[in-house]
Amino acid sequence: MGVLNDVYEMLNTCNKCGFCLTACKTYKTDLREPMSPRGRIQLIKKLADGVIEPDKDYEDAINSCLLCGECAVACPSGVRGNDLVLAARRDLKLRKGGIKPFTKSFALKTLASPSRLEHGFNLFRGVGKGILNRIDGLDYFRGVDVKGMPVAKKPFMDQVPEHITVNNPKKKVAFFVGCFLNHSLDGTAHSVVKVLTKNDCDVIIPKDQVCCGLPQYAYGDFETAKENARKTIESFLKKDIDSVVTACASCGSMLKEEYLKLFADEPNYLPRVKEFCAKVFEFSQFVEEEIELDKSKLKSHTPVKVTYHDPCHMVRHLKITSQPRQVLRSIPRLEFTEMNEANRCCGASGLVQAFYHELSTDITRQKTKNIVDSGAEVVATSCPACMLRIQGGINFAGQKQKVVHVADLLAKAYKSEN
Ligand code: SF4
Ligand code: SF4
Repeated sequence: MGVLNDVYEMLNTCNKCGFCLTACKTYKTDLREPMSPRGRIQLIKKLADGVIEPDKDYEDAINSCLLCGECAVACPSGVRGNDLVLAARRDLKLRKGGIKPFTKSFALKTLASPSRLEHGFNLFRGVGKGILNRIDGLDYFRGVDVKGMPVAKKPFMDQVPEHITVNNPKKKVAFFVGCFLNHSLDGTAHSVVKVLTKNDCDVIIPKDQVCCGLPQYAYGDFETAKENARKTIESFLKKDIDSVVTACASCGSMLKEEYLKLFADEPNYLPRVKEFCAKVFEFSQFVEEEIELDKSKLKSHTPVKVTYHDPCHMVRHLKITSQPRQVLRSIPRLEFTEMNEANRCCGASGLVQAFYHELSTDITRQKTKNIVDSGAEVVATSCPACMLRIQGGINFAGQKQKVVHVADLLAKAYKSEN
């Protein structure tokens, strides 16, 4: 039974009551039991008991889970469906001796390696995007807004020095950039640096930083995830820093929480992991809790109505909800409005959007509807993957709203000082 042995007690705790069903967006979209938390849990239990083999239907049930954690919140018995799915993916990886199919394994290997990722983006930047732009019908390939996807002219980390200093710094902050901000949304990375420097922080951007390891971890490749986690921890702790800031909720939950689980079996290294995790802050959490935002420096700009999307990793993993809203409310002439189901998953969920694109697109469609119904002109959020997914959904629906990071709006409020 292997990996599933570790979660067997939790598998048995599920009493099949079904309270989690309406919380699960894959079930609400697909309406088949294996696409629900209860269905997934019962399948995992049957596999653990040797009653079934991992066939395609089983793998689809496990791999289509968004890992959004909504079932864990809804369950009165404390069963964490997302953790059980994670264990099932780890079990699948071990049974098969690797991640299947090849395309998924290739994508995860590319993400894990900075040089491979850079080659991939260089290809997309130089040739791929031009070719794609000329192919009719490829606008929304498998639900992803390929033509609309921004690509940085060159990686953010090649645009900035490793140390950005200010006069009389109050803090030394290391910036964990993450793959999306480095290669796609470099403007948001610049916004983060601007906010930090405007608030008297030296910014250190370690050039040897790598992917946090979450994509590989989410599909059970704990070996690669651990390798990248160790590189990340050592890359940042060798710097003289007070804090580590990330503007990606997904990276944030990996850096702050999952690293502790990943290294639970290495008691000698765990203190170093804890030292690192204690320094990690998500961007708006850092702004609200670690610096005194001087609101008098924020200038009025064009009035704008803004709503906020809670990324799954932000709201249910890091449990950060009020801080981004407080940051937004501190911006003059910004009218904040809540959308319905602000914490509903956007449908991206890493590679789920590529491998279960119809399901993912249906989930994104509901998010887009909630945004349009809110009457907001701008959607702020805290995760680059959500930004790209939601902007694609809005474009696909023929709507006009712009999706930005909380950091972008805050940085813009300092604009008139430049
Ligand atoms: S996971 Fe929790 S809510 Fe869902 S069926 Fe099992 S016990 Fe009930
Ligand atoms: S983590 Fe999300 S998608 Fe997966 S079973 Fe739970 S509610 Fe459904």
